[in-house]
Amino acid sequence: MKNIIRQLVEDKKLLRKTADKILALPKDDQTATLKFLTDFGLNINYAREFLGYVFDVAKRDVLTVSQVLQHHLISYLQKKTKLPPARQKDLLREILRELRYPYSYGAAKSKEKSKLLLSATDTPKTQTTAGFEKIYVEKSVKKELITQNVLKHYKDLPLEYIDAAHQLIKAHYSIGRGKRTLVLAEQKGEWLDRCPGTRKHICCNYLVINNIVNCPYDCTYCYLQTYINNNILTVYANAADILDALDDFFKLHHGEHYRVGTGEFSDSLALDKVLGFSQPLIGFFAQQKDHLLELKTKSAEVEHLLDLKHNGQTVFAWSVNPEKLIEREEFGAVSLAKRLQAAKKCVAAGYPVAFHFDPIIHYAGWEKDYQQVVKKIFAAIPADKIAWISLGALRYQPELKDIIEERHPQSKITLGELDVAEDGKLRYFKPVRLDIFQKMHGFIRARSGDVYVYLCMESSDIWAKAGIKNKTKNPYAKYFRFFCK
Ligand code: SF4
Repeated sequence: MKNIIRQLVEDKKLLRKTADKILALPKDDQTATLKFLTDFGLNINYAREFLGYVFDVAKRDVLTVSQVLQHHLISYLQKKTKLPPARQKDLLREILRELRYPYSYGAAKSKEKSKLLLSATDTPKTQTTAGFEKIYVEKSVKKELITQNVLKHYKDLPLEYIDAAHQLIKAHYSIGRGKRTLVLAEQKGEWLDRCPGTRKHICCNYLVINNIVNCPYDCTYCYLQTYINNNILTVYANAADILDALDDFFKLHHGEHYRVGTGEFSDSLALDKVLGFSQPLIGFFAQQKDHLLELKTKSAEVEHLLDLKHNGQTVFAWSVNPEKLIEREEFGAVSLAKRLQAAKKCVAAGYPVAFHFDPIIHYAGWEKDYQQVVKKIFAAIPADKIAWISLGALRYQPELKDIIEERHPQSKITLGELDVAEDGKLRYFKPVRLDIFQKMHGFIRARSGDVYVYLCMESSDIWAKAGIKNKTKNPYAKYFRFFCK
């Protein structure tokens, strides 16, 4: 069997990745899969697509691959006689997609729809994050304050001085067991970048500080697993230059208003007590009135920043999700309760706070759980202290699916009803996203008509239909300048 499958790869009839998945199946399933490929004359692309549906359905419904194939073959054979041969593969695709996306395709009667969705709680939580195992320091940043802070804190870890961090990339390619290697390097590129956004979707004009790349946490859905694809957490230690870069940028963009964040390529605060990036940034933003610093986190690491002079120009922000998803999908991050306690402390210290429902995950009973999170936020934080709330549904590059399945086999989020969207990412079907945003907007508006709400990386038609409305006099509205990528 192995030889036949390998030959199909050689003959370019099967992708290596597809072949590996077939070879990982029990013998009976391998035979059934091969029969399926030959019976229907599937070429390399059909094989990848169609077997992708079959494997997902088998995992989701806890069936064997043979059982799934048998099921669809029966449906296929029942219908195919009515069709011209040219449409037979289309029919096969329709049947498989209906099996794979029963909720979105309305294959079940509407009252049974919710049963088709995954349960968020039926998987055990199995993973924990471990800490760093080794530190590398570029010789050029040996004397920087951040380097000294790190070496003091991790004094027991093995340490090696190197000429350039890029030497390490090859040896640490692939994220594997998680981010175990800490590298202190010199930022030789740009400290500031605009959020890359995503094509054909609306961007909110966010400015990103490139100070840390990668994150000590290990969320199953984290896009950094494809964006970075190595297990190194890089900290740029020559941080004194950041304030100059900000100063230059703001002079160049006089009259505009920016939200600037450190939480795009890492968690802003998870390591901040050791690294010490946020304190000078908060001080810098306190001295001006045009721009806001946003510190986005899933941690509760705020104590060391509470007594600083901030003039309301720094917003502490938390990504939030229902507690059961945090336990199963956000490894290393603290509970929702702890995030809200930290937010309360920040509000008591006079800081505005923000919340990001991102990614929202669609599963049976999601409405009740997310409504509960909204309720908890407004019970903990007065509405007028909340600067903004963003909404973003689960989305990711197709390559991330394989990484999640390999690194987090217990997670079921890839089995949700996600399909390739206009920007090439996997996203929930539009009616599902619309339903999510309309309901979430309703939950929030039931608590506050004033808090600023926006969608993260969504298409203009979803924006138009979701009915997101903000008051023009909202003091934070000027920090959002939306445009389509
Ligand atoms: S906290 Fe954010 S950056 Fe860190 S692993 Fe989770 S999603 Fe990725």
